[in-house]
Amino acid sequence: NNRINILGTEFDNFTEEEFHQLLKTDLSQHANKFIVTPNPEIVLSARENTRFSNIVNNADYVIPDGIGIIKGANMLDTPMHERLTGFDTLMFLIKQANEQHAKVYLLGAKPEVINASVARIKREFPKIDLVGYHDGYFKDDQKIADDIIEKNPDIVLVALGSPKQEFFINQYRDQCDAIWIGVGGSFDVFSG
Ligand code: UDP
Repeated sequence: NNRINILGTEFDNFTEEEFHQLLKTDLSQHANKFIVTPNPEIVLSARENTRFSNIVNNADYVIPDGIGIIKGANMLDTPMHERLTGFDTLMFLIKQANEQHAKVYLLGAKPEVINASVARIKREFPKIDLVGYHDGYFKDDQKIADDIIEKNPDIVLVALGSPKQEFFINQYRDQCDAIWIGVGGSFDVFSG
C-alpha cells in the first residue's frame, strides 16, 4: 500500500472496508499498532515540528480525517478513496472490542467526560473488558503508562489532543502490545 504525501504527511489510502478488516485482524491477534488520524490542522502543525512529523509518518496507519485532506489529494493529482475519521475509527474499535470481548483502556479528557464515556461503554458495550481508565489531566506520565502496561489491554484509546497524545503513544507503545490510537476530542462526543 503506497502512501500519499500531502504537505509532508504520508497517508495510507484505504477504503473503509479495507481499513476495518485490518483492524479486526489486528485486534484478534493482540497486535501492536499505532493509528494516527491527521486532519488539515495536524498536517500543518507537523510541517513545523519535525519530531511530531516523524512520529506521525512512522505510525502503522495514517488515516485522512477530514474532507480537506481528500480535497488536497485531488488537487495534487493523487486522489484517495475516502475520508476516515478518528471518531468513526473509535466507534468501529469499540464495536469490535465488544464483539471480540477485548480488553480496553481509556485515557484522556476531563474527569466528567471520561466517567460518562465509561458509563456508556458499560451500558451499550457490556462485553468489553474495560481494564482501566484515567482522565487526561495528570502530572506523572510514567505512572499512567505503568498502569496501562500492567492491565495489558488490546486497545488503548488516548484522548489528550495533538500532538500530546501522539507523543505519549510513541513513548510507551513498545512496552504494551495493543492497538493505540489518538482520538483527540472524541470522548467529548462519545460521552453524549
Ligand atoms: N485533553 C486532555 N489533557 C490535556 C489536554 C487536552 O485530556 O492536557 C483533552 C481534552 O479534554 C479533549 C481532548 O483532549 O477531550 C482533545 O482536545 P481538542 O479538541 O483540543 O483536540 P483535537 O481533537 O483538536 O486534537
